[in-house]
Amino acid sequence: MDATLRQLVSRREWMLGLIGLSAFQIGSFSNPPLATPDVTLYNTAYIDLAKVAGQLGMKYNLSKDSVDGVFSSQWTKVRFKKDSRLLLLNDYKIYLGFAVALHRGRLYLSVHDFDKAIKPLLTPQVFTNRPQLKTIVIDPGHGGKNPGCINKSLSMVEKDLTLDLSRRLQRLLETRGYNVHLTRNSDITVENRNRALFANQMKADLFVCVHFNAVESRSVSGIETYTFTPRNQPSTARSRMVEEDRKAFPPNSHDAWSTLSAFYVQRQMIKTMGGIDRGLKKARFSMMIDLKCPGFLVEGGFFSNFEEASKIKTVKHRIRLAESITNGITTYHKTLKRISNPT
Ligand SMILES: [Zn+2]
Repeated sequence: MDATLRQLVSRREWMLGLIGLSAFQIGSFSNPPLATPDVTLYNTAYIDLAKVAGQLGMKYNLSKDSVDGVFSSQWTKVRFKKDSRLLLLNDYKIYLGFAVALHRGRLYLSVHDFDKAIKPLLTPQVFTNRPQLKTIVIDPGHGGKNPGCINKSLSMVEKDLTLDLSRRLQRLLETRGYNVHLTRNSDITVENRNRALFANQMKADLFVCVHFNAVESRSVSGIETYTFTPRNQPSTARSRMVEEDRKAFPPNSHDAWSTLSAFYVQRQMIKTMGGIDRGLKKARFSMMIDLKCPGFLVEGGFFSNFEEASKIKTVKHRIRLAESITNGITTYHKTLKRISNPT
């Protein structure tokens, strides 16, 4: 092969590779296509917050010291802060993948956060791969040889209470007309990866993992909800990218719907139960790694906090928790129906 031909072939391969890549990105991960970045900061593509607000049809106000950026419309306020991954949507906490950045006196949001956090929550109608919601799989955390967290003084074992809460949730969701399955309905050991495989087998439209929390510090309390971390973003527990962050996993095809359903559930739990809002977070939990539908993981409070654990121990509290998760899920379902049949 002469040099010119070799160049032509490699150019053609390069072109094919490029087309293949963009088709893959648009088809699988960016529905709609990724927003156009304005600037690259810290190796990450960023877009001007003023432009994001404009695209959403919201007012934008940047504080004089360029620290606080606020979007507002009649019902919605979104607050961003310089160098912070935390945003407040009507005062509910949501963790971004990347910190909001200051550049030449203006605030910038990462393009990935625009696509994976802002659009699903504020304009879910732009995503066309809308799921249905008929079958829900609930995953009671731990079980059998794996007890989860334990509060000895209150005689509480996580695996027992995740099963109790999951059964209550199942009954409530069934009365609202959903087909509901549990990944376990007794005290048995279930491999984490098999939990998502079970949801796939049941053709679940939503996967809900139920857990309680524990940390060393006894003063920490509150409720948090996790979605599977989107591709090309670090999980909430880390601020820097690692190799795993570059990979796409099956649940990433449903990022928008996981975020929307998880947000409604977290918001409803905070509204109903009170206590501390620990926010909507991201992690690559092993029980979701093979999941082929939207899903999230609820951490319904801390066993390591005496006051919170004492409440969780009561049936009344667990009934309210199950009701608030159910109500969050039905709000998600209403939104799915509304955006599928706009009036
Ligand atoms: Zn757990």
